Amino acid sequence: MSGNPFAFFKPEIVYIRPEAKEYPLARELESRFKHMGIPVRTGIPVVDKTAGAAESYRIAKKTLVISVRRGLSFQSCKPSAHYQLPLATGCPALCEYCYLQTTLGPRPYLKVYVNVEEILAKAGEYITRRAPEVTVFEGAATSDPVPMEPLTHTLGKAVAFFAGSEHGRFRFVTKFHGLEWLAGLEHRDHTEVRVSLNTRRVIRRFEKGASSLAHRIGAARDVLRWGYPLGLMIAPVIISEDWQGEYRDLLHEAGRALGPARGISFEIVTHRYTARARELIQSRCPDHGLPLDGRDRKFKVGQFGYGKYVYDAPTMEQVDGFFRTEIPKTFIEPVIRYIV
Ligand code: SF4
Repeated sequence: MSGNPFAFFKPEIVYIRPEAKEYPLARELESRFKHMGIPVRTGIPVVDKTAGAAESYRIAKKTLVISVRRGLSFQSCKPSAHYQLPLATGCPALCEYCYLQTTLGPRPYLKVYVNVEEILAKAGEYITRRAPEVTVFEGAATSDPVPMEPLTHTLGKAVAFFAGSEHGRFRFVTKFHGLEWLAGLEHRDHTEVRVSLNTRRVIRRFEKGASSLAHRIGAARDVLRWGYPLGLMIAPVIISEDWQGEYRDLLHEAGRALGPARGISFEIVTHRYTARARELIQSRCPDHGLPLDGRDRKFKVGQFGYGKYVYDAPTMEQVDGFFRTEIPKTFIEPVIRYIV
């Protein structure tokens, strides 16, 4: 991917909020896109109500909005961190189960915030308020921010900011490779980079537009080589006939590539969906193939007060037991943060 800032995301149309033009990054991006012949408009995207749900979704995934993050209070972000760090929203990939289907609702386009210095200054206030407790920020709560990083460099600025913060920590997760911009940045172990893996079958079937497994494992190896704390996320775990064999193979393949590294963290998230997500997925991705028929599921009301369909208790127990047994067989002193 090296050298091509549009390797993962090249918008077909760009909108700039008027207030964003006060910021140098917005002006730089505007001139760059215009130079490439990409239409740039002032304002916000207008939804074409004549296009069907699938086509509107496709168009949105090729639309970039350059904006300013106002109202700088941060949302909480359990179980991954204390707070979300709002640097961007959206993602160019088309993973059919993606939680952003509902989080972003009718606005699934990509948005980047150009007032990153103000956002980081606000993070500093949150850190000061909780010090000497450590405060952890999640940079990928509402996006996969990596595809846009070569254009905005905001993750890099966040890594540098947290390197200089005594009580602040940063983490983000991605399903993309192309992390070369991390090499050489000072991080002081204050940024944990997590790479989201899944079985080849799940990636091929459900994660369209994201990086291949080999590329992601290569990116994880690079993260270790550059001295960052590494996390591996497996999300979503999708139960199939031979799920244990497939996820065992995945752990072995990653383990072989990553070698004898100690202390890699793991986050395991089973497939779940809300009724709203099912409705959106069925309209936007009619050929989705996801298990959404409620079999082997129970309805559970989550921490945010809405219900979701999760695997039933016996299945969850099997998943929990499987990963708690298999991960330590392959990795040295792994830190299993959660299995949900
Ligand atoms: S890579 Fe992550 S954020 Fe992007 S579509 Fe897939 S699941 Fe959603």
